[in-house]
Amino acid sequence: MKNLYLLGATGSIGRQTLEIAEAAPERFRILALGADRDVEGMTELIRRHDPRFVAMNDPAAAATIAVRFPDIEVGSGKTGMIRLAALDPEDREGLFVNAVVGVAGLEPTVAALKIGRDVALANKETLVVGGQIVMALAREKHVRILPIDSEHSALWQCLEGENPDSILRLVITASGGAFRDKSRAELEHVGVADALAHPNWKMGKKITIDSATMMNKGFEVIEAMHLFGIPLGKIDTVLHRESYLHALVEFIDGSMIAQISSHDMRLPISYALHHPDRVPNPTERLDLAKIGKFTFAPIDFERYPCLGLAYAAARRGGNAPAALNAANEVAVALFLEGSIPFLMIESIVTAALEQLAFIAQPTLAELLSTDAVVREAVRARYARQLL
Ligand code: MG
Repeated sequence: MKNLYLLGATGSIGRQTLEIAEAAPERFRILALGADRDVEGMTELIRRHDPRFVAMNDPAAAATIAVRFPDIEVGSGKTGMIRLAALDPEDREGLFVNAVVGVAGLEPTVAALKIGRDVALANKETLVVGGQIVMALAREKHVRILPIDSEHSALWQCLEGENPDSILRLVITASGGAFRDKSRAELEHVGVADALAHPNWKMGKKITIDSATMMNKGFEVIEAMHLFGIPLGKIDTVLHRESYLHALVEFIDGSMIAQISSHDMRLPISYALHHPDRVPNPTERLDLAKIGKFTFAPIDFERYPCLGLAYAAARRGGNAPAALNAANEVAVALFLEGSIPFLMIESIVTAALEQLAFIAQPTLAELLSTDAVVREAVRARYARQLL
């Protein structure tokens, strides 16, 4: 029996994680649940899964949950999320599932790694912002980081049992997002609802916008670099509109091994939770004869400048990816609330990287401080623009 400590429980990945865990009650017990502020969503999950510990990021939400469930221990804010990740440090078999969105996921990951607990990781910012520190800690503590993302799960599956020296390159595919058929000129006038209409995947809002700008693909390149210890120069991207082939590995002998499946996050979640076993799950089976063809095309970096910005930040290293992420997080939030046009996301990120006070070997505290400083600068710049 494996205890699950799940952060981001009320979100898209969190709910699908619970669905996969519920389908195997002989293997998984839901011990702790955490969420940002969705009190009603959490109330429903508590009734269904009966966790021992609950963390709510929002203090008012935590207080409401504590009143509703006096028998459950309730944590609040950042401390609550960190406590969830490292709850019961003697539980060596437990798994921390990190499915929160944003840099808020970084410290809980570090807390779980410090007690030697495996982490199933859907939170991108953990590796984008803190990749170097996080991977060093995972190696030191001999714990595993199991990716919950279709592309990284695909790479993981393709790399199983392979000699790292035989890898020529990793290739991650991109659907192109909601605006793949629009020109740069048309992008000047796109709205929030248009950006949220992803052609293939149903996901949370933040990641759907990141898909439209291709920043999401940039994050995935940075994550793959850390997760698999592959140099940036050996990680490529290719446009694949159908989103069935999630990633491939090309080996030195000319072989390419790819992973193909429907667009359904329950598969990567199931693979991470059950690894090294494969178990049946309810995801759609692909009928290749019916699909007929897969298409591939190069990604135009001028059409998607955020992808180039991500490569540049990763090449620079240090606290540059932290700045990239912070500026993007604020810019996407401003776009989602209708405050800035779509194309301003990329100009905000570009400016943040140009103005960065660079630190080559940042500590965790310095990464978090870079995050805070860049957020503040972006908000201040935006406020000035309003005057
Ligand atoms: Mg992905």
